[in-house]
Amino acid sequence: MLVQGAILDRDGPRPADVRLRVGRVVEVGQRGTLRPHPDEHRLRGIVVPAPINAHTHLGDAVSVREPPPGPVEDLVAAPHGYKFRLLAGATPAAKVKAIRAALHRMDAEGIGAAIDFREEGADGARLLRRAADGSSVRLVILGRPLRRPIDPVELRAVLDVSDGIGLSSARDESGTARRTVARACRAAGKRFALHASEAVREPPEAYLDPRPDLLVHLARATAGDLDAVARARVPVAVCPRSNALFGRQPDLAEMERTGIALLLGTDNAMFHAPSIWRELEFAYVASRLRGRPASAGYLARAALVEPYRWLGQPEGASIAVGAPCRPLVLRLPADDPEYQVVTRTTEHLIVRPARPRSFSEPP
Ligand SMILES: [Zn+2]
Repeated sequence: MLVQGAILDRDGPRPADVRLRVGRVVEVGQRGTLRPHPDEHRLRGIVVPAPINAHTHLGDAVSVREPPPGPVEDLVAAPHGYKFRLLAGATPAAKVKAIRAALHRMDAEGIGAAIDFREEGADGARLLRRAADGSSVRLVILGRPLRRPIDPVELRAVLDVSDGIGLSSARDESGTARRTVARACRAAGKRFALHASEAVREPPEAYLDPRPDLLVHLARATAGDLDAVARARVPVAVCPRSNALFGRQPDLAEMERTGIALLLGTDNAMFHAPSIWRELEFAYVASRLRGRPASAGYLARAALVEPYRWLGQPEGASIAVGAPCRPLVLRLPADDPEYQVVTRTTEHLIVRPARPRSFSEPP
């Protein structure tokens, strides 16, 4: 397959021709320099690495009804909020079926991986792993222990079946609990993440101590808070649609100004489809509406580049010969690729050169 148009990857946007074979990049040239082989499929478009959805709660895809009105705390607070009552009331089989449907949708949209916060302890993480078996979407599972104070035996059991721990927030968890979890994650070589400043502002001293590998939301953070996060070099996953549902908005332009490494997620699957493309467009439009927009390039990197760095696989975001990337072709005009990709990608414009051979392949 020969794509004539542009590349948008970790080195930014540029005009290019790209030859793809069995899902791999086999040749890259200046635009207009690669000649099509006889019978070679040729199309115009933008080649990008498969995006990564950096914050999901796929388990709660089990609910598809419109959420009741009310503050976000009432809806998603553990253990008695609306979401946790629904999770507790659903059978494992129903959850597996709903997660598979969500993964199927992400696969259809070319998503390479998702970083999921999985509630319900070790059993919850195991259920998610089972549901994702055979999916081409790689899942990075951040589990959550249930008992408080933290029970080291349970914590170890959760870590055994997950890639790290994703906690609710600093104000929901004691400093002792956060430190115990962070220490166990370090010792196991796994990730420690938590939500921060979602419904109300929290002081950075709380959520930066111990230093997490990832913060989620910061919708209520001040410019000073964002400076502190940037100085601590902690990446941030934002979920603008989820925040907007509860009347909030992360300050993406300020995050860009401070140099925060931004990732993008779709949050609770009971509220929003896990579509990174819809999230990208909403993030862009909402930040324009705010009057001080983040750049399309910053948002594109949040879906296509920064998550690979976070995973320790930066070369996965490189469209180059021999790179371990999973390229997608977006049938979009090649002028201004960042703007095109961020605002105009829809499922029917996505061409996957070939399906990945197996789930265990790197993204
Ligand atoms: Zn979340």
